[in-house]
Amino acid sequence: MTNLEKISSIKKTLGSKLTIPAHHYETDDIVACADFVGDSYKLAVDCSHTDAQYIVFCGVRFMAESAAILAKPGQKVLHPEPGSGCPMADMITAEQAHAALKLAATRTSREIIPVVYMNSYADTKAFAGEHGGAVCTSSNAAKIVQHFLDAGKAVLFAPDYNLGINTADLLGIGAQTIKITRDIQLESIADDPRMFLWDGFCHVHKEFSLAQISRQRASDAKMQVIVHPECNREVVQTADISGSTSQIYAAIAQSPAGSSWAVGTEYQFVNRMAEKFPEKTIVPITTSICVEMSKIDQEKLLLSLESITNHEESGSPLLHEVIVPHHLRDHARMALNRMLAIMEN
Ligand code: SF4
Repeated sequence: MTNLEKISSIKKTLGSKLTIPAHHYETDDIVACADFVGDSYKLAVDCSHTDAQYIVFCGVRFMAESAAILAKPGQKVLHPEPGSGCPMADMITAEQAHAALKLAATRTSREIIPVVYMNSYADTKAFAGEHGGAVCTSSNAAKIVQHFLDAGKAVLFAPDYNLGINTADLLGIGAQTIKITRDIQLESIADDPRMFLWDGFCHVHKEFSLAQISRQRASDAKMQVIVHPECNREVVQTADISGSTSQIYAAIAQSPAGSSWAVGTEYQFVNRMAEKFPEKTIVPITTSICVEMSKIDQEKLLLSLESITNHEESGSPLLHEVIVPHHLRDHARMALNRMLAIMEN
């Protein structure tokens, strides 16, 4: 039997006890095994609704952690490759976030609320929850930040600088931002700052440049350029559309046959869209891959599933179960639930 056949057989045996979410940037082999595929927001929402006893999360570690934070009592979350991390999430710790909040407070009399990107670890999410803040994703950052601005607050946004500044531009407050560097220094000064931006980044999305976009436009006059908001500010400003992975997918899926798209996000996802919509021209701006997402393969997924079967039969320990310490989980859950509540209103 192939690994895929073994995986299918275990899925059939476990039935509704098991669910396998996978992020859009996972490999085709993993997407083929998934019960649902999405970006980090969709996966968090779908995971919060599932009643499956075992969630085997195919994504990077912060996503599996978020599923564990939102899990219902008795639900178990497994991560087939614990070494699949996110360099951006590594760019801030709760300790640094506390220091940044303290420094930001010297620049404004407004209360500062942390908004942390989903791409962060449990300690940073817990920091946000503890200080009245929320998690956001690239699809809802503007709505979450606006919620706190409307209440007269300033926002400390972390860890992605590009998502922060692109969100600020969208909300018309790009000039009222201050960058805080990782050695806890203020890099720019603004009057009445409304957003303090941490200087983390995603190397996959920072790769895209204006020159690459010009080349794509020169190759096809009707080419539309769509990019992820983790791209650099000038790239987002030059693109025709900017949106989260799900928003990019929706825009392309809904476009008429014959449309041409140059896409600025992870290559495997762009490639899969090009195969799915052969009646449209869909080209990657560069072949920029998230190697972290590629670390999970069918063999590792199968080991996770076999550990569930063994656990059911003999009570043996689950392989790579995601455990978030209580003291972090409660505050991190508050931050995630605030995001879900703001989005429902
Ligand atoms: S694409 Fe970038 S932000 Fe997303 S997991 Fe990979 S490194 Fe992290």
